[in-house]
Amino acid sequence: MKPTFTNCDRCGTETNIRQMSRFNTDILCMACIDEEKEAPGYKAAAESELEQVKQRNYNYPGVGLSPLDLGFVCGRMGRRGIGIDVITAYTNKHLPDDPAK
Ligand SMILES: [Zn+2]
Repeated sequence: MKPTFTNCDRCGTETNIRQMSRFNTDILCMACIDEEKEAPGYKAAAESELEQVKQRNYNYPGVGLSPLDLGFVCGRMGRRGIGIDVITAYTNKHLPDDPAK
């Protein structure tokens, strides 16, 4: 069977091995998966997801990326050489809405 390539929802890298983020519904490449495992909120996000699965809620959208976790994964992408335009777009997409608005 021919592997299917898609672009990672986070860093845009083309990949044929992918897995869903523990934080949200992003489909990620292995580099992003490895990076988010070190994010400060990862353990809580993974536990929360596990809890939902136990309750048979398979459509759980995830806890979302806190500004801290978002900063962490974006920092890692930068270190990996992902372009600032990609990182900025990802940040804008995932920053929580401004409560003042
Ligand atoms: Zn990626």
